[in-house]
Amino acid sequence: MMEPIRGVLLDIDGVLHVSMQPINGATETLDWLTKHGYETCFVTNTTTLARRTLAQRLQQIGLPVAEQRLITAPVATASYIRQHFPGKRCWILSKGDTASDFEGIEMVEERADIVVIGGAEELLTYETMNHAFRMLMDGAALLAMHTNLYWRTKEGLQLDSGPFVRALELASGKKAIVLGKPNQAFFGQALSTIGVAAHESIMVGDDIENDIRGAQTAGMRGILVETGKHNAHSPQLQQTQPEAILPSLADLPAWLEGKD
Ligand SMILES: [Mg+2]
Repeated sequence: MMEPIRGVLLDIDGVLHVSMQPINGATETLDWLTKHGYETCFVTNTTTLARRTLAQRLQQIGLPVAEQRLITAPVATASYIRQHFPGKRCWILSKGDTASDFEGIEMVEERADIVVIGGAEELLTYETMNHAFRMLMDGAALLAMHTNLYWRTKEGLQLDSGPFVRALELASGKKAIVLGKPNQAFFGQALSTIGVAAHESIMVGDDIENDIRGAQTAGMRGILVETGKHNAHSPQLQQTQPEAILPSLADLPAWLEGKD
């Protein structure tokens, strides 16, 4: 017998919206989940926006996403630093406006105790990489908000910061602590936010590696939706089998009702 489902974790990009266009039925599904007593939490590796700003943007396109139910990779990174490196000096390489997520953490330009790599794009120059490398060799710890390799944009595929994190690991001999999905602690933070155990929760995502396999490793069931990165024909399904594959988030209420 499967445990009844009480918690629903949801990825955002490719699940709730694509390029800020809401998926048909996404708003209705979120309302349905609330009405039926499911605890929801939103989990994303996005590093470009502060949690507060992202929640506002999603609300502006009609998606009821509360700030305190939103866990982003920068939020998880800041929380890890507060817990494991209290009072330490931090150097962050990341684009976007996430400063408010790191409130209370001391930021420095050099001689940092912690080097953090986020979604940095064109900031990942030889100069910044070498600066990071030198601080690592002087004893700093290496943290990565995620290790995504690339993503798709209107112009084509775009190299992400994962390969640069690997380069720093290789040169320094240090292993990066990765804080975003598919890290188990990331899902753990979301589950503790809603106070539901992993075996009573599902994760809904469009990425078989980060969302589905990550959730399964953390003890949850993973539901793949086909509105984003992966679908029922993705080769990654040979390694990872989701609990269900649904055309879109709009099909989730019927799937949950079928489990009763
Ligand atoms: Mg996604």
